[in-house]
Amino acid sequence: MFMRYISRLYSAMAGPRPVVLSGPSGAGKSTLLKKLMKEYDSVFGFSVSHTTRNPRPGEENGKDYHYVTREVMQARIDNGEFIENAVFSGNMYGTSKAAVQDVQAKNLICILDIDMQGVRNIKRTDLSPIYISIQPPSMAVLEKRLRDRKTESEESLQKRLHAAKVDMEFSKEPGMFDVIIINEDLEDAYGKLKETLIEEINKVKKVGMSS
Ligand code: ADP
Ligand code: 5GP
Repeated sequence: MFMRYISRLYSAMAGPRPVVLSGPSGAGKSTLLKKLMKEYDSVFGFSVSHTTRNPRPGEENGKDYHYVTREVMQARIDNGEFIENAVFSGNMYGTSKAAVQDVQAKNLICILDIDMQGVRNIKRTDLSPIYISIQPPSMAVLEKRLRDRKTESEESLQKRLHAAKVDMEFSKEPGMFDVIIINEDLEDAYGKLKETLIEEINKVKKVGMSS
C-alpha cells in the first residue's frame, strides 16, 4: 500500500500520468485517439510503437509506427530497449523506452495503444497509467468495421476476430481497466473518453499556462 503510494507520488512528480488505450482491433482506438490528439495537440503525445507488420495506406513510418524487420525488432528487444512487446496476429509489436520518454520529456500525456498482453506487461512496470478499454458494441459490429476498413486479408481478419473474443472477456477481469468505453456512437464514446481524461488534461493545460 505504502510502496504503491510512493510510486504514484514519484509518477506525479515525473509529469502527467500516461494513458493506455486497449481493446479489440477494429474497436475504434486509433479513431478516438486521433480525435483526441487533434483537439488537444499540445496536451497528448503518442507513444510510437515498433512493429513488423507492413504499413497500411496512409500510415507513416515514425508517426503511426516504426516499421522494422523481425531481425531488427528482436535485436532491439534483446538489447533491452523495450518496456513491453508482444506478438499479435502473427506480427511483433512493442513499446520502446524511447517512445515513452520522447513524449514525457515534452511534459505531454503519453498515450499507448497496446493489446491486452501489453496491458498485462505494463502492469508489471512503474509507469502507472490510466487504463482504458475501448470495446465494440458487438462482435458483429466489430467484424463489419474491420471488413469495411479494408486493411486486412481474410486470414488476418479471422485472427483479429479470434483475438477480439479473448480481449472482450479479458476486459471484464476485475481491476484490469479503470474505464471501459463501448464505442457504438463515435461522438458519445469520444465524450466519455474526454470525461475520463479531463482532470489530467486540465493539469497539463495549467502547467502550460504557468510556464
Ligand atoms: P482500432 O484502432 O481499434 O483497430 P479503428 O479506429 O481503425 O480501430 O476503427 C476501425 C474502423 O471502424 C475504422 O474504419 C473506423 O473509421 C471505424 N469506426 C470507428 N469508430 C466507429 C463508430 N463509432 N461507428 C462507426 N465506425 C467506426
Ligand atoms: P494494428 O496492426 O491494428 O495497428 O494493431 C494490432 C494490435 O496491436 C492492436 O490491438 C494494438 O493496440 C496493438 N499494438 C500496437 N502497438 C503495440 C505495442 O507496442 N505493444 C503491444 N503489446 N501491442 C501493440
